[in-house]
Amino acid sequence: MNEPLTMNRAHGAETTTNPTLQQPLRLIESSSQLPTHADVVVIGGGIIGSFAAYYMARRGLSVALVEKGRIGAEQSSRNWGWCRQQNRDARELPMATRSLQLWEQFTADTGEDTGFKRHGLLYLSNDDEEIAGWARWHEFAKTAGVTTHMLSSREAAERGRATGRAWKGGVFSPTDGTADPGKAAPAVASAFLKLGGSVHQNCAARGLELEGGRVSGVVTEAGTIKTRTAVLAGGAWASSFCRQLGIRFPSATVRQAIVRVTPPADPIPDALVSSAVAITRRSDGTINLSISGRGCVDPTLQLLRFAPQFSAMFAKRWRNVSLGGLEGIRWGHESLARWRLDQPTPMERARILDPRPDPKGVRDTHRRALELLPVLRESRIASTWAGYIDSTPDGVPGIGEVREVPGFILAAGFSGHGFGIGPGAGHLIADLATGDNPIFDPAPFRPERFSRSAWGKVADF
Ligand SMILES: Cc1cc2nc3c(=O)[nH]c(=O)nc-3n(C[C@H](O)[C@H](O)[C@H](O)COP(=O)(O)OP(=O)(O)OC[C@H]3O[C@@H](n4cnc5c(N)ncnc54)[C@H](O)[C@@H]3O)c2cc1C
Repeated sequence: MNEPLTMNRAHGAETTTNPTLQQPLRLIESSSQLPTHADVVVIGGGIIGSFAAYYMARRGLSVALVEKGRIGAEQSSRNWGWCRQQNRDARELPMATRSLQLWEQFTADTGEDTGFKRHGLLYLSNDDEEIAGWARWHEFAKTAGVTTHMLSSREAAERGRATGRAWKGGVFSPTDGTADPGKAAPAVASAFLKLGGSVHQNCAARGLELEGGRVSGVVTEAGTIKTRTAVLAGGAWASSFCRQLGIRFPSATVRQAIVRVTPPADPIPDALVSSAVAITRRSDGTINLSISGRGCVDPTLQLLRFAPQFSAMFAKRWRNVSLGGLEGIRWGHESLARWRLDQPTPMERARILDPRPDPKGVRDTHRRALELLPVLRESRIASTWAGYIDSTPDGVPGIGEVREVPGFILAAGFSGHGFGIGPGAGHLIADLATGDNPIFDPAPFRPERFSRSAWGKVADF
């Protein structure tokens, strides 16, 4: 598995690349000392944990952010970067709308660069059923005050002229946009550091200490931090962490490949999706290519355990899922093992979950992109990578205090669309941790729904 990265220079110094990772990622420095106490310990430095830590530090809390690898190095730097309201499930739309405002507010407040831009997202299709689905969402969005434009065939061809094709129709969502996954989580963690927070990388949380059933500390590989509140924003690792506490958190991961190509000579849309391929311009001009809904499921014991609950989700959301291989077992993020707190855990053996991209997926993605946008024939492949997307059975994240363990807040299962809603989710976590009025209704995200036999319907999009 990955070698732990060794850079720990003076606080504030940074590099922008990481030789062991294929995806661009800004590296930030760790704080020098693990605190003995904190008001809150956040476990996991992806986009969710970083924003949660930032919003809590803004309220004057002492917060320690512990990350077993590097800030942002898992899903949060491996994604397309889409920050969208378009096609959001009704339960998530308020969070998506607030998040777009918060992305802008974050940059205005901190001067940090997340690469966020509201350039609009373009969807093109030749499938009547798909277009009808977008039209239904368009009607629903109007009731929520969200503007999207249904595109006629002529308008779709005009907006998608770089494809040189005819289209039956499309949608353009002008208030949506993208942020740069290589910049965003590190930018937020950097702002958090400036507020006096502490960031501890290569520092896995092994478990919790409890007193009278409530959180009293977080045990990390570098020592214990006494605290009454722990937030678990551990992405693909959250379910196995919960298992150590006897908490059942159904989660399944899908491995999706991304191909990044060098900037094309002629203009293309900033963000375009068709059933064949999705294309996103990064802030350095390179282009991410991927296939929506396509991925590999690597069988693991955890997957077998939760498989019955996921059949509806896979049928609806992951249309092109194929059976993978031993990659999931090799990484150990879905282990059913119980581990001891005084010995290295699977998380320390896999500092950065960096699965191999499926070679066929990479070839298909690249071929489809060249067919869709001929100008990309001049571009060369700059890098390829994969990420494990962590899903819940209903496709909506679990966010909230876990009833069985007071003081333990779960924030995971973002089901392939957590990057764009990172700011809203982080704000909500801070609201829950401080007892402030929640920024939007937290009810749809409550983790207790996972202990029932049915969770409600699978997210629409
Ligand atoms: C290929 C791909 C494309 C995607 N496209 C989009 C998109 O366009 N738009 C969108 O909104 N979303 C997208 N997503 C989903 C999005 O990336 C995720 O939902 C989001 O990044 C989840 O953030 P997170 O912080 O929960 O998880 P992660 O980014 O995975 O972070 C979790 C962190 O927790 C750390 N950790 C885990 N356990 C421990 C522990 N015990 N101790 C210390 N640290 C721990 C891990 O090392 C990791 O860094 C995509 C995902 C992928 C893989």
